[in-house]
Amino acid sequence: MGVQDHSGFEILLRVPDGTPARSNRRRGNCTVRYSSGLPDGEFGDLLITDVNVVAGSDVGDLLCKLALDYSRGSVRITTRDPSVPPTVDFNLLTDPRDIALSRHCLRHAFEIVRAGFPARTTILDAAGREVDPGMGTTELDAWAASIVRYTAHAAGGVAIGADGDPNASLDTECRVRGVEGLRVADASVFPIIPMANTHLPAIMVGERVADWIARDRGLVAHGLVSAVA
Ligand SMILES: Cc1cc2nc3c(=O)[nH]c(=O)nc-3n(C[C@H](O)[C@H](O)[C@H](O)COP(=O)(O)OP(=O)(O)OC[C@H]3O[C@@H](n4cnc5c(N)ncnc54)[C@H](O)[C@@H]3O)c2cc1C
Repeated sequence: MGVQDHSGFEILLRVPDGTPARSNRRRGNCTVRYSSGLPDGEFGDLLITDVNVVAGSDVGDLLCKLALDYSRGSVRITTRDPSVPPTVDFNLLTDPRDIALSRHCLRHAFEIVRAGFPARTTILDAAGREVDPGMGTTELDAWAASIVRYTAHAAGGVAIGADGDPNASLDTECRVRGVEGLRVADASVFPIIPMANTHLPAIMVGERVADWIARDRGLVAHGLVSAVA
């Protein structure tokens, strides 16, 4: 258990000959979702999407992203003061399987740029440093580690488990052990981060827990409990 996020890597593209960068277009108009074929991969484990540009700049932006992530981090409270935010560490790319996936995704993005963009397109990282798409594996891994970022899909920070499981803060109906009347009903209860965006699964968790609460209070639940009971 431990909090997760989808690891993301931004590649900036400076396209030659004044090709206009269209900063006012919606991002994600064009996404490549594909399968790495790696031994620890899954169907559709990687994606590359356009993020468009910073207004006024002459660069476009590709976001390479792992849909499948193995690395797990931590959420820790550092004080009993509830107004102090917890310390969150996603530990991105700490699992070697994620490093292999990121390598595949970045190389595939470089290949797309080489094959589909004007010949003198320059690849930059978010700090504006020019990137050599032919760099070796060691350099690529180090570069990936230096630019990896979270992608706002935090999930999986609180474990559900059976009675007696020392790692499970929640019982199997999302009740916080040792605290009367408190449940967790959000993306933090996902056992693993989905290979998809997280908004809809978070709503599903909310609906499920709402039905349990309605059942416990003798109210009519609107679907899920009755459907699966
Ligand atoms: C910029 C951004 C873009 C995103 N884009 C997409 C997208 O395109 N598609 C997609 O599927 N997902 C997207 N996501 C992810 C998605 O929004 C989240 O996965 C989802 O909202 C998680 O739901 P949640 O209920 O776990 O947490 P949240 O939506 O964060 O809800 C937590 C709630 O708890 C409240 N809260 C916090 N602390 C306390 C407290 N102490 N007491 C009472 N209330 C508290 C907060 O105010 C908040 O209302 C995006 C996220 C971000 C940040």
